[in-house]
Amino acid sequence: MTDQNKYTKVAAPEGYSGPGFMATSLDKVVGLARKNSIWPLPFATSCCGIEFMSTMASNYDLGRFGSERLSFSPRQADLLMVMGTIAKKMGPILQQIYEQMAEPRWVIAVGACASSGGIFDTHSVLQGIDRVIPVDVYVPGCPPRPEQILDGVIKIQELVETESLRRRDSQEYKDLLAGYGINQVWKKEEPKTI
Ligand code: SF4
Repeated sequence: MTDQNKYTKVAAPEGYSGPGFMATSLDKVVGLARKNSIWPLPFATSCCGIEFMSTMASNYDLGRFGSERLSFSPRQADLLMVMGTIAKKMGPILQQIYEQMAEPRWVIAVGACASSGGIFDTHSVLQGIDRVIPVDVYVPGCPPRPEQILDGVIKIQELVETESLRRRDSQEYKDLLAGYGINQVWKKEEPKTI
């Protein structure tokens, strides 16, 4: 395999180019950079987390999408990947972690448990993480295969690439967060009870 075949270059954003110059909009350049350098925070509580480990390993290799740099601090992450059963008691903690992430931030609910509570329709299990935080992409399955998790990340990349730089300041977004009782500027406070 030649070096040329080994590495794939991302395509340049739409714009105007000529000899020695290229002009495009800031949104497109920022979207391109963000899309290919997502820093995920894996919040894995049970079996779906094992599928994520496989997604990171050599066979599937999430690093091919520029996301090999996992973050275990919410402050240095922009993609929250929730994988596994979330007990109601963990809901406020999950929300606090989301609040600690810097904007812009995205969320994937990986698997049936994170998306809807899965088979655990019980008093103690949160019936979907979208009860406490906004979710951008839901990955179905119990557990989803690594290909499905990769597909979820690719869907997030599409959102990241095309998101307007102004979206996070929009009233619609502020209202969305307010609906969850989430502060845009994180401040230390006691976890809320649901
Ligand atoms: S969706 Fe299935 S595999 Fe994933 S955490 Fe729930 S029970 Fe486990």
